[in-house]
Amino acid sequence: MGLLSGLLDAVFPPLCPVCREGLIDEGLCTDCAKTVRWIRKPFCSVCGIPFSTGTDTHRCAGCIKKRQPFEMARSAIYYQGAGLRAIRRFKYRYDMTVVESLRRFVIHGFGLFGTDCFDLIVPVPLHPRRLRERGFNQALLIARILERHSGIRVEPRVLRRIKHTSPQVALEEKERLANVKDAFRVEDERLVRNRRVLLVDDVMTTGATIRECARTLKMAGATVYALTVARVI
Ligand SMILES: [Zn+2]
Ligand SMILES: [Zn+2]
Repeated sequence: MGLLSGLLDAVFPPLCPVCREGLIDEGLCTDCAKTVRWIRKPFCSVCGIPFSTGTDTHRCAGCIKKRQPFEMARSAIYYQGAGLRAIRRFKYRYDMTVVESLRRFVIHGFGLFGTDCFDLIVPVPLHPRRLRERGFNQALLIARILERHSGIRVEPRVLRRIKHTSPQVALEEKERLANVKDAFRVEDERLVRNRRVLLVDDVMTTGATIRECARTLKMAGATVYALTVARVI
C-alpha cells in the first residue's frame, strides 16, 4: 500500500485541494498557503478577537461591557483566502481532500487556549432536517479531527437543535440572535454538569450560534469553551 501510493504520487503528484494546480506542500500548495491568515496573539483573552496593535492579551471592549456565556473562544484562521475556500469545499461539497489542511487549522486553534484540560468535545448540532439535506454535520467531523489529535472524547448527542432555523448566512446580526434563541437543548444534564465542555464549529460570524449553544450548556451546569476553525473579522 505504501509502495503503491508512493508510486502513484510519483506519477500523479497530489494537487492542491483548493486551486487544483499547485503541488501540495503541507495540506495546500505554497501559493494557497500564503493566503491563509492565521490568528495569533495579541487577541481578546475571552472572545479571541485579534487586536491589530499591542502585544499583551486583555479583554476587548465588548467582553468588558458584557459577560460572555463561554470562558474563552478561539479561532484558528481568518475566514478568507484559501482557508475560506477549503472550508466551503468541505462543508458544501463534502470534499475530503481538504481534511489535512483542516487538521492543521484545528490543531493551531486548539493550541491558542493555552490549556488542554477539557472533559468533552461537543459539536454545534444541525437540526435533523438540515442534517438530512446536507448528509453530514461539518462540526461533528471537525470535532472528530480534534478528538483524534487530543484524545478528548466527542459527545455528539449532548446538545440538540430543537428549532429549525433559517440559514444564518442571509441574516443581519440582530436577526441572527433572534433566529437561534432557544434553538438548542441539553438532552441529559448529567453529561455536562460541572464539566469543561469544548464546543466546536466551523465558522464564527457574529458568534450568535456559539453564544446560544454556550448559554444552553452553561445553564445545564457546564463551563464552556468554544473553538471554531475560522472567524469572520
Ligand atoms: Zn493551491
Ligand atoms: Zn472579547
